Amino acid sequence: AFRAADRLGAIGVSEIVRLTQEANQLKRQGQPVIVLGLGEPDFDTPAHILEAAQQAMARGETHYTVLDGTAELKAAIQHKFKHDNGLDFALNEITAGAGAKQILYNALMASVNPGDEVILPAPYWTSYADMVLIAGGVPVVVPCTEANGFRITPEQLESAITPRTRWVFINSPSNPSGAAYSAEQLRPVLEVVERHPQVWLLADDIYEHILYDGRAFATPAAVLPSLRDRTLTVNGVSKAYAMTGWRLGYGAGPKALIAAMAVVQSQATSCPSSISQAAAVAALTGPQDVVRERCQAFQDRRDLVVAALNASPGLRCRVPEGAFYTFASCEGVLGRTTPGGMLLRTDADFCAYLLREHHVAVVPGGVLGLAPYFRISYAASTADLQEACARIQRACQALF
Ligand code: PLP
Repeated sequence: AFRAADRLGAIGVSEIVRLTQEANQLKRQGQPVIVLGLGEPDFDTPAHILEAAQQAMARGETHYTVLDGTAELKAAIQHKFKHDNGLDFALNEITAGAGAKQILYNALMASVNPGDEVILPAPYWTSYADMVLIAGGVPVVVPCTEANGFRITPEQLESAITPRTRWVFINSPSNPSGAAYSAEQLRPVLEVVERHPQVWLLADDIYEHILYDGRAFATPAAVLPSLRDRTLTVNGVSKAYAMTGWRLGYGAGPKALIAAMAVVQSQATSCPSSISQAAAVAALTGPQDVVRERCQAFQDRRDLVVAALNASPGLRCRVPEGAFYTFASCEGVLGRTTPGGMLLRTDADFCAYLLREHHVAVVPGGVLGLAPYFRISYAASTADLQEACARIQRACQALF
């Protein structure tokens, strides 16, 4: 029989993938399920990006490229960091891979030794913890309170740091909480990192362009330039340009780290898709108005979902600053029994109730590091969101 390697431990395919599969299974059986589980824009990739990919193919750009990004792509990324973030990077401080996910994985595999600790403010994107485990590290989960806007406090960070701490992850705007840090909110947190020279900072900026109410985006290496030499800034085209399937992400940081990450990538996937690289150049250097328009569309949907959740008995939802998720408390429905006779003990029970009795698939906070909450991805059509919200309201009303 097959025996998995020890390093996989208890890690399975992500719980979110499993829940989505269960929802899709119900759908195939003819149930009218609305799936608000996955973090994927429902928009299409803009036409000028598709065209750039077609032109690249027609030019014969269908071969292996330089390991971690073509010269054109690295120049486009360099310009992006300068123009959007005020960050200067040399080309050998920039790397591109098959999604921000591969960049994160490369970074951890290139830097984490067994027993090294990685601080994850919770709630967090589940892949962080699993990747740390695969790399042999120890995820150190710091629960962030709703009262502090799901942001880590400097005091919390200070007390989580040990001599074994290798990385602190900051993901703003956040999947799953939607929380974002302003520059003022970031600075005291970064100053804690600055005081501990063994600690590096991983800034996951993938939701940079999905930030609401006119807020200004702040990235750690720009807020505290003294940290630049131990910060890896990660970004990608998946969320901003609706390009999840193209698999193209990038990162920038100290060249020794970037070189070590290229070693990992060279033995895993070599270069990212040549066609996706050409498409990403068009995304980063082309017109950006579509990004702003879509951000406004997401903001309208956020308002719709937050209002509906707060009008549901037992639920409470703070207004997220960015990304396309709400992270609402379901504490008020715990202890209640559903009309079908199910006692709701945990957020997972509540999500199971929503799926089985009301046909809405969402993700319990417990699998994202903080209970009792649940995540809705509102990167879905307005019609689906309205119907899903009506169902959630009915589901909650039926509990009281
Ligand atoms: N980081 C966060 C916080 C995410 O939510 C995601 C995708 O869900 C990623 C990184 C990975 O994005 P990609 O690999 O598509 O660039």
